[in-house]
Amino acid sequence: GLVDDPCAIDISDALQDAMSTLGVTRETPGLCVLTDAGYAIVDGNTTECCIRTIERITGCSISDGSLLPVHRSVDKPLWFVIFDNETKDCVYAVYENGAFTATKVNIDGENATTSDGWNAMKTALGSDAFSIITIANAWSYGAPDNFLKCSEFHNHICPGLSSGYLIAEYIGENYPLGAGESYTWIGCPNWCKEDAIQVLLDLTPGKKSLVVKQRPGELFVKEKPFAGILIIWNDTTKLGRGVAFQYDWGETCNLSDVNLSDFKPSGGKANPLFWTTRIKASFGLLPYIGQPDMFVSPASDEFNVTSEQLNQVKMAGVDPYVELGVVEPTEVRGDFDGDGRVTSADALILLQAAVGKITL
Ligand SMILES: [Zn+2]
Repeated sequence: GLVDDPCAIDISDALQDAMSTLGVTRETPGLCVLTDAGYAIVDGNTTECCIRTIERITGCSISDGSLLPVHRSVDKPLWFVIFDNETKDCVYAVYENGAFTATKVNIDGENATTSDGWNAMKTALGSDAFSIITIANAWSYGAPDNFLKCSEFHNHICPGLSSGYLIAEYIGENYPLGAGESYTWIGCPNWCKEDAIQVLLDLTPGKKSLVVKQRPGELFVKEKPFAGILIIWNDTTKLGRGVAFQYDWGETCNLSDVNLSDFKPSGGKANPLFWTTRIKASFGLLPYIGQPDMFVSPASDEFNVTSEQLNQVKMAGVDPYVELGVVEPTEVRGDFDGDGRVTSADALILLQAAVGKITL
């Protein structure tokens, strides 16, 4: 009937159990819930109804900013975590094979930056560890609601996501839109930042207002890699202007006391350093996420963009920095006839030069 939760799955008992394990009630201040309810599917049914149950049992709510629905694929199991800011304890409950399995673990942010701390939390929380540790601790820190909104979509916080937040702030402060204008963001090279830019500026690949392309030799190579190109298109004059940005990863490392090389440690994700470096840098940036000028700067003068160029930069195989004149095209070594490829025709030219028949 209507008095019960008209929900495909009743998670109230699991929530009550988790509250008891934590020793809290819905009156306890400083509680926060993370869940993928609303995204997960249980027995073929959607799970948004669980949000109301969570609000009723825990007292946490979306409108208070204490219930954070975390984006997950529909093929992931339903889970929730209740976090107690007082103790930094949490209870994580996952619904699989018709039952909830609950685990209690302390996710203190400082401890999460150590190998031992991370390993213990990873053992308890499995593949949701990084999401839960970073988002719960950022919430505990008092991160802005729209920053948490980005983390819900991206399903974790990392220094890359924070860089996107900072870039969106920088754009808003320095390149406000005039009448008839709209943004296109070319994320090149793309990294986690694009997910914050999508959320904050509503620039999306589907609407072609956000285009992503990889570019070697930038991220985790340079202290200040290229981050992307902003194009401000004026639909009245049919002309655009653009500017390239760089992002200061070196400053991120200095402020967080991490090494740039530790973002790519030997062993990759199997090495706890991969995760602890990201956690450390995530928390290290939190005090500065309102200060984009510290990290974001133009990598070019402003330039004009034609409608032809706006189309071209979105095409496969086009380097947007070359197309828009920010960098010179790279010469292909050994390409003597200048067709952009190294073929037998080039070998022939080289041989002719070697025997003195021609000069290069
Ligand atoms: Zn990320």
